Amino acid sequence: MNKEMLKKLVDEFMARVIAKNPGEKEFHQAVMEVAESLLPFIEENPKYKQAKILERITEPERIILFRVPWLDDKGEIQINKGYRIEMNSAIGPYKGGLRFHPTVNLGILKFLAFEQVFKNSLTTLPMGGGKGGSDFDPKGKSDNEVMRFCQSFMTELARHIGPDTDVPAGDIGVGGREIGYMFGQYKRLRNEFTGVLTGKGLDWGGSLVRPEATGYGQVYFAAEMLKTRGLDLKGKICTISGSGNVAQYATQKATQLGGKVVTLSDSEGYIHDPKGIDAEKLAFVMHLKNVKRGRIKEYLEKYPDATYVPGKRPWEVKCDIALPSATQNEIDGNDARTLLANGCFCVSEGANMPSTPEAIEVYLEKKILYGPGKAANAGGVATSGLEMSQNSMRLSWSREEVDSKLQNIMVSIHKNCVKFGTEPDGFINYVKGANIGGFVKVAEAMLAQGLV
Ligand code: NDP
Repeated sequence: MNKEMLKKLVDEFMARVIAKNPGEKEFHQAVMEVAESLLPFIEENPKYKQAKILERITEPERIILFRVPWLDDKGEIQINKGYRIEMNSAIGPYKGGLRFHPTVNLGILKFLAFEQVFKNSLTTLPMGGGKGGSDFDPKGKSDNEVMRFCQSFMTELARHIGPDTDVPAGDIGVGGREIGYMFGQYKRLRNEFTGVLTGKGLDWGGSLVRPEATGYGQVYFAAEMLKTRGLDLKGKICTISGSGNVAQYATQKATQLGGKVVTLSDSEGYIHDPKGIDAEKLAFVMHLKNVKRGRIKEYLEKYPDATYVPGKRPWEVKCDIALPSATQNEIDGNDARTLLANGCFCVSEGANMPSTPEAIEVYLEKKILYGPGKAANAGGVATSGLEMSQNSMRLSWSREEVDSKLQNIMVSIHKNCVKFGTEPDGFINYVKGANIGGFVKVAEAMLAQGLV
């Protein structure tokens, strides 16, 4: 299909999506990226076109919207919005994280749930796609306030989820603490100890390597991409954004594989440590972010040789490999051009949709190694899938066993991208590979299950 024909098809398709989902710009962006890869493939496979699979897959099976009232420490009433998007259950129970962040809205959660459908399919495990969350901001709240909010949130959510129906996990603002409070409330309401949430503590049904899985998987995926060019991580300078769960374990794995991580960030700015953030410095960051719940600029109080750049993202720092691990649209076209001008040749996404469409265009035009989030960060949900299996069997696998399964899954996701994304000149277009690779399994299941 030539460029003009593709553009016409995409424009027509997107006009319908935008009319049906007005104002949801992140959702439009995620759908458009997929439509650009899939529409030519669907033209070549009329069975998907006749069954309107793409139209059906962009419409959530169910959206749950609810009020979350709670009392703050002063005894004042607070009200937040609660959401769960049950996007697609063709290949398994809905599965995907909960995000607690003040920017959360319907469009953001729909984009995340949509991407999750493809990602979960790529993992090779039987998981459908979902996502949820709230505009609640855990930052600056006491433990008791977070607990009361989580209990109120779960009081409503509990009636819609279950270990064979919908299994939420963490995402931005939802870590071990929040999962604990929500699991406790679910158990109390249902009188059931089941694998209804993943990311649980090790002593109460959690899986080894689940906290590490997204960041580890992101780096394993980068290593697989590098291998296609006969390279590895040894001696490579890596820039990482974020300093939460994904960023922390991406730092750990990249360092273990011989890379040198020189930046971390939060929403206020980034730190640059040219000597590298080694295991000892990372332990400091983990305590700072996970226990003290402080800001990344406090890194300089302990390591004054580093610099702190307020109000900026780390993409201006020279690197070989960029590992965006904070949030959506954190690399725009200019950032992408700066990265490439400074010699960056590999981008592996830990965050969901961190690169804008213009940034992706820059990567693809210059044919760098670019692993989109739905492939590169799938290790997190894959290990959640492994946690579900362990819960169902009432068994716990060893660290080595889970880590080796995770590595195998990342290798197989990479293979699938190569299978569907290799272009005639040998360039691997991982965007196309991940979109088509993730789509086929879901589409076949939808065909088999009829019009539901
Ligand atoms: P955390 O809440 O642990 O950390 C998020 C980090 O990103 C923090 O450093 C935060 O800074 C920063 N951040 C959040 N929002 C913004 C913003 N608007 N601008 C700049 N920085 C921001 O979340 P995770 O590490 O779990 O998630 C990070 C990304 O990875 C997200 O895109 C998430 O969807 C994705 N992801 C996570 C998975 C998981 O298993 N946790 C699985 C797959 C993808 P601050 O503290 O200032 O807010």
